[in-house]
Order: sequence, then C-alpha cells, then structure tokens
Amino acid sequence: MKSKIIIPLLLALACGITTAATPPPKQPADPQRAFNYAKKPDDMLQEQARRIFGQARQVLAAHPPSATPGAERQLALFALDALLHDPRLDQGPAFTAFMADLARRVAATLAGPRPAAPLRVIRFYNHGFILQTPSVTLAIDIVRGGKNVISGDKEDPFIKEELMRPIVERCDALFVSHPHNDHADLRVARLFLDAGKPVVAPPGLWENIAPRLVRPRAADATAPADFTLALPALARPLAVRAYPGHQGKVPNNLYAITTPEGQTILHSGDQTGGGDDLPWLLKIHEQQRIDVFLPQCWMARLPLVVEGVRPALVLPGHENEMGHSIDHRESWWQTVLRVQKLPAPVILTAWGEHVDIP
Ligand SMILES: [Zn+2]
Repeated sequence: MKSKIIIPLLLALACGITTAATPPPKQPADPQRAFNYAKKPDDMLQEQARRIFGQARQVLAAHPPSATPGAERQLALFALDALLHDPRLDQGPAFTAFMADLARRVAATLAGPRPAAPLRVIRFYNHGFILQTPSVTLAIDIVRGGKNVISGDKEDPFIKEELMRPIVERCDALFVSHPHNDHADLRVARLFLDAGKPVVAPPGLWENIAPRLVRPRAADATAPADFTLALPALARPLAVRAYPGHQGKVPNNLYAITTPEGQTILHSGDQTGGGDDLPWLLKIHEQQRIDVFLPQCWMARLPLVVEGVRPALVLPGHENEMGHSIDHRESWWQTVLRVQKLPAPVILTAWGEHVDIP
C-alpha cells in the first residue's frame, strides 16, 4: 500500500508541484451584477438617465431637425422632456454630463468647416443660439445655466467656464436680450470682452462694466435702433436693428441681425406677446424682411406675432429652462402643440443641434 502513496508524491516533487492546499478557483464574475441596483435607487436613476440621454442623442442624430419630424425624432425629444422634468435628476451627474457634452458638441461644430449654406443656426441651451455664416459667427443669449450666472456672485453654473472658452473663441460677438439669469451670463460676457469682442446689452444690465458694452437702445425707447458693429472678420460692419421690446416691464431687445450673406434673423429674447409692444410687433414685416425668427416657445399670442413678423422659417427656443420649476420649464412636446397653427414652417431643435438654411 505504501508504494501507492510514495510514487505519486515523488512524481509531484519531480514536477515541482507542492502538496500545500491550493485555494478553490474563484467564481467567474457575474455580469448580471453590473445591472443590479437593489437598495441603490439614486444610482439606478442616474444610470437610467445617462443611458436615455445617450439613446435620445443617437436617435436625434439619425433623425436630424426637420420641418416634418417623424415619430422617432419626436419621441427622442419627449424622452428628453421627461428626463429634464424629473427634479430627482436636477444637477445630478447624468444631467451635468449631458450639459458638458452639449458644450463640447457645439465647440466641435464651430471648430469644423464653416457651413456651405449662407446660414447655420446652432441651438445652445435654453434660448441661446449661435448664427454661423461663411464669414461671421454671432452668439445670442448663450449662458452656462444654473444659479446667479448673471452676476457671478455665488453662482452655480450647469456648464463649466472652461467648456465655454472654445465656443467663445469661435464667435465674433455676443448679443444679450434682457437682464435675466437664463439669458445673461457675466463670465461668458467677460470672455468676449477680454478677447476684444463686442457685447451688445440691453438697458440696466451690468452697470459695473457699462463702458465696455454696446447699448443700442435706451430703457424708454419706443422706436427701433439701427446700429452697426465693426468686426475684424468682416470687411463691412454688421447691420443690426434692436427693437425696443419688453418682458413685462423689463426692457428686452429683439435683435434683427442682417448677415453679410444677406439674411436677417430676428431673436425674440423673452418678448411678451402682448402689452404696449403688440402693435409694432404685428408690423415688423412692414419694416423689414425676416428670414428666420427665433421666438421663445411660450410667448403669448405666438401665432399672431409670427403673422406680424412673417418669417420664412421659425426656430423656437427656450424649451426646458432648468432654472424654472417644472411647471414652467416648457417641454418640446408643448412646443409641438403650440406651433401647430403657425403661418410659417417650423423646425424644432434640441440643444447642440444645428440647421443649415439655404
Ligand atoms: Zn428666459
């Protein structure tokens, strides 16, 4: 019997195998555990939001802005509405990553080739737009979003300032419609000013840096102000008209910018669709031709105002202003309903998208 034990032992020693007890092999990793969020509801919501944000982006990329959007595109916009109206996600990591991605995408668009079309309208957060033409790039109401960016005092922005730099570097001027936090961002304005680029501002905004601003219109103005901006990119100064609008009693400039390529774009700011301004709003078409109108989506009497402006195309903005409570964030699905009877073609855009206009 002894030789039966000794021989395998000798063989084992000859092969360099020790007889010490070896640990049992590890269980193979369970891939299902990565999808298990039991007792971690916040983590589950963040991961779910991250995936739906990403999926919506993919669907929107496959179904770009159109005056006749299909069901896929509309569902992607409505999915964003759902995420952006869930306060549990406000300023969480999924939302913050989505906003950083927005800034990077817009910077990448601006860093790419200039449009072959005479006008590209790039949608930024809230009611921010960037007009890019073969010769010039103009920003209107671009902000980082979040708390107190208008003053910078105890601010808590959604987008980091570093992510705005490559955007501002590609823009030639900034237009600000009115002195509200979701339209006016002091650090963004300073990035323009420090680079020697003009910032056009409404009455009452940033009195502390007033000498550095272009103010085309007085608070009590009742007539439009025509002015020009000399920009290094342009051989001839840019022609702009500031209409003397209001949001309630707050002066709100509606800028009608005529590009060197010959198109005129009107941005509404947060113009109230009524009050004392309504009579002249209804006659804008008599004053000048508007090719593209960028109204805020929740403007009262929007169909009537669009009739007064008579643009060739309407691109609404201001959906999902995250500084508002959810009852006034204004969803894309609400815009779909509001623009049903507008007397002009309408293209809805998500943040970071652009439309080339022939
Ligand atoms: Zn606003």
